[in-house]
Amino acid sequence: MAHDFDDLLEANRQFAATFDSSGFDGVAHAGIAIVTCMDSRIVPLDMLGLGLGDAKIFRNPGGRVTAQALEALVLGVHLLRVDRVLVIPHTRCAMASATLAELRERVGESAGLDATWQPFNVVEDQRAALRDDVAKVRSHPLIPETTKVGGFLYDVDTGLLEQLT
Ligand SMILES: [Zn+2]
Repeated sequence: MAHDFDDLLEANRQFAATFDSSGFDGVAHAGIAIVTCMDSRIVPLDMLGLGLGDAKIFRNPGGRVTAQALEALVLGVHLLRVDRVLVIPHTRCAMASATLAELRERVGESAGLDATWQPFNVVEDQRAALRDDVAKVRSHPLIPETTKVGGFLYDVDTGLLEQLT
């Protein structure tokens, strides 16, 4: 444990050496909130031409609008100056290409333990799920109609976003 993170702490010291955002506030300066997948091929700020301080970002497996994502969006809209929301699942997402049984089997094999009790929020039809997720945001009683909400698919092989709703 003592040295498990030394490489990252060293990198952090270099980062902090030129850090110049002390005292910066926590609102979304570009008015943007993003819900997207945990996938390591997605760099949310870069893909939208944004930078530090511009956006609120909520990530989970699949980039789904869960209860906690809605919690983040309500806070973002009312307290953190968010006025546009992008929901962004992506191509070749494990959550949309495997079944629940397959994921449980693969995790169970890796763990050497029973994983059949572990919930995984798998997606059968990614486009239908995205429409549902965007509708959840748009119809939330605490998210005003003035908030723009879009659903997009990010192509991890081209870097392009396609707006689907
Ligand atoms: Zn994914």
